[in-house]
Amino acid sequence: MILRPRAIVRDGELFEGLEVEYAEGVVRDVRPFRGTPDGTILSPAFVNAHSHLEYRGLQGVVPARDYWTWIRELTRLKTLQVPAQVREDAHLAARENRAAGVGYVAEHSDLPVAGEAMRAAGLMGIVFQEVITFNERDDPDSKWRLVEERAAINRAAFGGPVVPSPHAPYTVDQVTLRRWADAPQNSPLFRASIHVAETSFESAFFRDGDGPIADFYRRQGAPFEATGLRVVAWLDALGLVRPGMQFVHACAVEAEDVGLLARRRVSVAHCPRSNEALGCPVAPVRRMLDAGVRVGLGLDSAASSGPIDVFAEMRAAVRSAIALGEPLDEREVWHMATTGGAASLGIEDWRIAPDARVPLLRLPDRPSLAALIRDGSPDDAVWL
Ligand SMILES: [Zn+2]
Repeated sequence: MILRPRAIVRDGELFEGLEVEYAEGVVRDVRPFRGTPDGTILSPAFVNAHSHLEYRGLQGVVPARDYWTWIRELTRLKTLQVPAQVREDAHLAARENRAAGVGYVAEHSDLPVAGEAMRAAGLMGIVFQEVITFNERDDPDSKWRLVEERAAINRAAFGGPVVPSPHAPYTVDQVTLRRWADAPQNSPLFRASIHVAETSFESAFFRDGDGPIADFYRRQGAPFEATGLRVVAWLDALGLVRPGMQFVHACAVEAEDVGLLARRRVSVAHCPRSNEALGCPVAPVRRMLDAGVRVGLGLDSAASSGPIDVFAEMRAAVRSAIALGEPLDEREVWHMATTGGAASLGIEDWRIAPDARVPLLRLPDRPSLAALIRDGSPDDAVWL
């Protein structure tokens, strides 16, 4: 197939006058052409760097507008859900991702239904099978076995990678967290994803033994102690700040944390709509990119972010960076939603370049990426 778009997006920039030879999902050649372009813009498909397909049924039903109330209410509502309904929700969310132009999803899964949903919708990706041991802290190995059983079901249905992954530093016990420390590159635990510093509560908890997480531990009779370390430094002491790790959110991080993430080649999933909705601090993405951290854009769950819409997420990334006074330009945001997001997940050839295996989208002709982002909606993404 020879494609002659008005422009192609490569590494977040528009290039005109190039034709693309494309066959069986692989870019065979990119070369100059003369003649009339077809009036579209060609882009690598979107990459959703952080997702919870299973929460689709909770879109618009968790009213709280602050993080702690929201997560408690979400946890309560989850216990009331019927597995068959969650399965349908996951299928719907997977189809909506695909319809919105998403080709690759980094999914946090609890029940073993995301794998089949992603396969049915034609999504590539990775499933991080979530480990939470807070309620099994006397016998975390029993939870580990359950997670491995669920991962096996997801793996068989999906056909792609499915790996156990810790939910968050404060919901997984230290002995279990150490399973991921120093995992070599050939270990199934090398690639992992964990929610980190979504709020300032995590550092308050680990450093000072204070705040809502400490209150929650006390009410539940769970032991803890102040360590004097911010959450990222605490994770570093455990050996979890290392290559292969994806930190989701990284909102409440300090300059030293950003430097550490860069040096240790930890990638970050930035979820600006979710952060905005829950009143989380704005993640310092400008500083992360400048330091060399690989950042992907994540739609998170529809329960916090709202409808599955990459354009809305890109607009939120632009908006929140301006609000922080550390702007990102549209090229950087597009890159985070495509090639850069893929690279943050270890996929290096998600670009329109010879020999790259990448799904492609046709988008309406607009004068710039800024205009595409400003006016874009899921319907604009048309699969090749
Ligand atoms: Zn999440």
